[in-house]
Amino acid sequence: MREIVELNETLSNKIAAGEVVERPSSVVKELVENSLDAGSTIIEIKVKEAGIGEIRVIDNGKGIGEEDVVTAFKRHATSKIKDEHDLFRIRTLGFRGEALPSIASVSRLQIVTAKEGEDGTKVILDGGKLVKHEKAKARKGTDITVSDLFYNTPARLKYVKSLHTEMGHITDVVNRLALSNPNVSIRLQHHERILLHTNGNGDIRQVLAAIYGKNIARNMIPIRDRSLDFSIEGYISRPEITRASRNYLSVLINGRFIKNYSLAKAILEGYKTLLPIGRFPIALIAVEMDPLLVDVNVHPAKLEVRLSKEQELNELIATTIKQAFKKEQLIPQGSVPTAPKKQTSFQTELELEPSKDAKTGDKQTYQHQERFTREKLLPVHEMKKLYEPADQPEAFKAPVPDEVKLPQPPPVHVEEEVQPPERIPALYPIGQMHGTYILAQNENGLYLIDQHAAQERIKYEYFREKLGRVENEWQQLLVPITLEFSGDEFIKIIEYKEELMKVGVLLEEFGMNSFIIRSHPAWFPKGQEKMIVEQMIEQLLTMKKVDVKKLREEAAIMMSCKAAIKANRHLRDDEIQALLDELRRAEDPFTCPHGRPVIVHFSVTDLEKMFKRIM
Ligand code: ADP
Ligand code: MG
Repeated sequence: MREIVELNETLSNKIAAGEVVERPSSVVKELVENSLDAGSTIIEIKVKEAGIGEIRVIDNGKGIGEEDVVTAFKRHATSKIKDEHDLFRIRTLGFRGEALPSIASVSRLQIVTAKEGEDGTKVILDGGKLVKHEKAKARKGTDITVSDLFYNTPARLKYVKSLHTEMGHITDVVNRLALSNPNVSIRLQHHERILLHTNGNGDIRQVLAAIYGKNIARNMIPIRDRSLDFSIEGYISRPEITRASRNYLSVLINGRFIKNYSLAKAILEGYKTLLPIGRFPIALIAVEMDPLLVDVNVHPAKLEVRLSKEQELNELIATTIKQAFKKEQLIPQGSVPTAPKKQTSFQTELELEPSKDAKTGDKQTYQHQERFTREKLLPVHEMKKLYEPADQPEAFKAPVPDEVKLPQPPPVHVEEEVQPPERIPALYPIGQMHGTYILAQNENGLYLIDQHAAQERIKYEYFREKLGRVENEWQQLLVPITLEFSGDEFIKIIEYKEELMKVGVLLEEFGMNSFIIRSHPAWFPKGQEKMIVEQMIEQLLTMKKVDVKKLREEAAIMMSCKAAIKANRHLRDDEIQALLDELRRAEDPFTCPHGRPVIVHFSVTDLEKMFKRIM
């Protein structure tokens, strides 16, 4: 009896759907990417019940010809590659020809499409089976409606999280597509609510404004630089604008959104010591490079890519960000209470920011949540009214949203290394408060300085300098350090022995799975020799090289924290003045090495507003 049979097409599509159509947002992503590939300039996405009920994508792209529509739903049917050669030069978003058949196999799908000057076609599929194929009146473009997603795969349906989680994913996907396509007007609507509407005028900053709000977009710093193989361009948030997750770090490679952990890490490396622990910036970085250096064919959803010369790119990103901040005044403004609402203390923008902007992602999710709970309370006929479908594609008649007027600072050119004259203005001490904060003033207003954070920053820079200078000096150990590892680690470490020797660490094999070290470079801080060697080895195992600079930096952070004056210590006037003067000379005076703010400013105007001298 034959045991091996070929799967029939419907079944293999369902299996592929498991990979491609993980959740409602995957459908949105695939459909919108198809619209983009078809050269659309306006794309409208209408979603019901977070995509489980319905996802409709209407575009004004080139459409599909009558003779091709049914083929488009066959597996591996694509108009985008013809041979192997094309696979390495892909510029379109899709190319596997898997999306349409996969989506159709787990939903009820209707497509109405027409090419310029041709009759339109309407096709309906039910669980991937063709149920209707007829001529239809249609304008140029494609209108796809996917209903009852996962109706025939109950296991997958169960896996779908709460509606607002799913809607969060959809918003995320559409935001990303909008950021990578500023030339296309994209509109996302959930029931009646418009969640995003970009104007498609090509200005990335306006897309950022549509997603995160004008206030945040205005506070993002443009960056631009290039290396031999890469050129990068983008916007990064000032360090006081942070989020609780790294979700807001976006990287585009040749116009394609990608997920790459090490690139996200490179962005954070650029912010090093400027961010509070556990907080992350908002950044969008577009990388252009030879497509031959990218392998996009790694993941079916095409999010993960493999890069040649990744290290070069990481360094370019991190240094460009660092350089950009060197030129900025980064003192956060003390916030001013605007309405007479309850406010217990003055907070810095840093603390107030996350929920402040009405258009942030966080807030959007929150709004969905609110909507979903309210739905439960409405009588059925009221709900119907809320969800009545707008029959006309809105994007084709609605005017583009009001232009957001934003200042357009020129991109920072990194080559022209100009040292800013003074990063903190001259300050005159007023006194000390609670043995913890220093109050100071100048013609611009009042400054509050956290004395511990300030000294930590000063000491950190001092140690970093000192550690950086000692080269090739050795320290003999009276008692050698012993290090033990697991068998497989031990074998790997032996491979890296030479690498370690280059940075001054000489490992001697010593019995089973252990090494001893008899001397070390003199810059190792006392008492922490073993820890530093262990960190080096850990770096080697993960990054395959030792970054001495980074190790020294970490050591400097540790030492500075121990050495800095703690809170609750009285300072004499001359000590205060000395601290302020030293702080002014610091290279990065605005945050302590852990990223907490050192100094907060209340401008004269802020104070006048607080006391209602001006309104
Ligand atoms: P892929 O995008 O990988 O080629 P899909 O299954 O997503 O595969 O789509 C199959 C084909 O259908 C595409 O290659 C394209 O020719 C056509 N197509 C899909 N969506 C659209 C659209 N919105 N406008 C024009 N053509 C489309
Ligand atoms: Mg596709």
